Amino acid sequence: MNPKKNKDSEILPTKHKNTANYSYLCQSKITYLLRKHLKFETEMKVLKFGGTSVGSAQRMKDVAKLIADGEQKIVVLSAMSGTTNTLVEISDYLYKKNPEGANEIINRLESKYKQHIDELYTTEEYKQKTLDFVKSVFDYIRSFTKDIFTLFEEKVILAQGEIISTNMVTNYLCEQGIKTYLIPALEFMRTDKNSEPDLNYIREKLNVQLEAHPGQEIYITQGFICRNAYGEIDNLQRGGSDYTASLIGAAINASEIQIWTDIDGMHDNDPRVVDKTSPVRQLHFEEAAELAYFGAKILHPTCVQPAKYANIPVRLLNTMGPTAPGTLISNDTEKGKIKAVAAKDNITAIKIKSSRMLLAYGFLRKVFEIFESYQTSIDMICTSEVGVSMSIDNTKHLNEIVNDLKKYGTVTVDHDMCIVCVVGDLEWENVGFEAKVINALRNIPIRMISFGGSNYNISFLIRECDKKKALQSLSDMLFNGKDKL
Ligand code: ADP
Ligand code: ASP
Ligand code: MG
Repeated sequence: MNPKKNKDSEILPTKHKNTANYSYLCQSKITYLLRKHLKFETEMKVLKFGGTSVGSAQRMKDVAKLIADGEQKIVVLSAMSGTTNTLVEISDYLYKKNPEGANEIINRLESKYKQHIDELYTTEEYKQKTLDFVKSVFDYIRSFTKDIFTLFEEKVILAQGEIISTNMVTNYLCEQGIKTYLIPALEFMRTDKNSEPDLNYIREKLNVQLEAHPGQEIYITQGFICRNAYGEIDNLQRGGSDYTASLIGAAINASEIQIWTDIDGMHDNDPRVVDKTSPVRQLHFEEAAELAYFGAKILHPTCVQPAKYANIPVRLLNTMGPTAPGTLISNDTEKGKIKAVAAKDNITAIKIKSSRMLLAYGFLRKVFEIFESYQTSIDMICTSEVGVSMSIDNTKHLNEIVNDLKKYGTVTVDHDMCIVCVVGDLEWENVGFEAKVINALRNIPIRMISFGGSNYNISFLIRECDKKKALQSLSDMLFNGKDKL
C-alpha cells in the first residue's frame, strides 16, 4: 500500500462518518490534503498596503524594504492614493460624453506617473520597461474616449490603478534583485452570480498560480479588482483591497493577514473628528466588524468575515511607523471593556406610527417587506407599542418606500442623521456601561437607541450636526478619564 495514502486516510476517523460532523471532517480532510500538496500553505502571511502606503516613489521603496525580509508572503497592493478617484473623474467625463475633459485628466495623471517612475528606478532598463507598460495602460484608457461608455467600461478603467501600482512595485523589487512574481488578480479573484466572492474558485485558481511559480520570495497581486461570474472585469467596491487580502488569507489559510495603512492601528475614536485618540491593541472580530460597518474607515467592513470564519488573525499596522504594535483582531474578547466609538453619516430615519400596530401581529412583516421590495437594508430599528422607527443609509428609493408605508400609518422622515456606535464587551449582564455612555451623551438630542442585537454594540441615532460634539464627549468620558459629572 502506498504509505502516503495510508497516512492521509488516518485523519478521517471512520466512527464519525455517519454523524453531522462528517461533512466538516471531509472538508478538513480536503484542506489537509490541499495543504499537504502545497508548500505555500499555512506559513505564509498576506500583507495589504493601502493607497497612501504606496502613494509616492519613496513610499514604494519603504514598502519594498519592509516586505523583503526573506519570508515568503503574498502582498496585496492598492492603487497609488488619489488614482482611483481620478479614474472615477475620468469616467464621469466619459459618461457625460466629454472626451476633451477626460483627456486632460488622463494626460495629467500620466505625467504624474512618469515622474514617479523617474524617481523610483535606478537602472535605465527598469525605468524604460515600466514607462512602456504605463504608456500602454494610458493608451488603453484613452481608447475609451472614442466609444460608447457604460458601467462595463467604467469598471475596466477603475481597475487600471491597481494594475499600474503592482507593476511598478514588482519591477522595483526585481530591480533590487528580490525574487518577486506578479500574480494578476484577474486570473483568480472572482465573484459569483450574487456578486459574492467565489471562494472555491479563488482558492483553486490562486493555488494554480502559486504552484506554477514556485520559489519566489514575494508574490504581488492587485487589491480591489476581480472578475464577475461572466468573466467581465469588476471590483469589490471602493476600499475593497482589504477584502482582497482577507479572501486571499482565507483561500491559502494564511498564518496572519496584515493591513498596512497610514495610522498605528484602530483608534478608540475617529481621529479625523476627535482630538486625542489612542490605538486599541486588541479587538474581537465582531467588535472590528461593528466598528468598520459603522464608519471606522481603517478597515473595509467586508474584510472581517472571511478572516473570522477561517480564524485567521488580522493585524492593522502602520507603514509610517512599522515598529508600532498596531491592533490585533482575533476571536479573543477583553472582558468588560468599552473599546472604541465610530460614526456613520448620511443616515435617514423613518418612523411609522399606527394604532393598527397595537396588539396586531404581521405589522412588522408588512413594513419590512416594503424595504425588501426596494432592496433597501435597515441599519437600526426601535419599536414601541404603536410605532416603529428605522434607519437607512441608501435613500435611492426613499420616496417609493414612504409612499408604500403610508398605507399602514403616519410616516415621518428625518434627514441628515448619524449613527454613533459604541463597541466593546457589552453583554447585558455587565452592569453600568449603558449609564456611562448615556451620561457622555447627556447634552445631545438622541433620536433612537439600539442595544441587545449583539453583545458588542450600543448604537445611537443623533443629528449629523451633533456628531463632533457627541464623539468628543464619548472620548473624553470613556477613554480620556474625564468621567466626572
Ligand atoms: P488605506 O488607503 O491604507 O486603505 P484608509 O484611508 O482606507 O487607508 O484608512 C485609514 C484611515 O482611516 C486613517 O488615515 C484614518 O484617518 C481613518 N480612520 C477612521 N476611523 C479610524 C479609526 N477608528 N482608527 C484608525 N483610523 C481611522
Ligand atoms: N483603490 C481602491 C479605492 O481607492 C481600492 C482600495 O484602495 O482599497 O477604493
Ligand atoms: Mg482603506
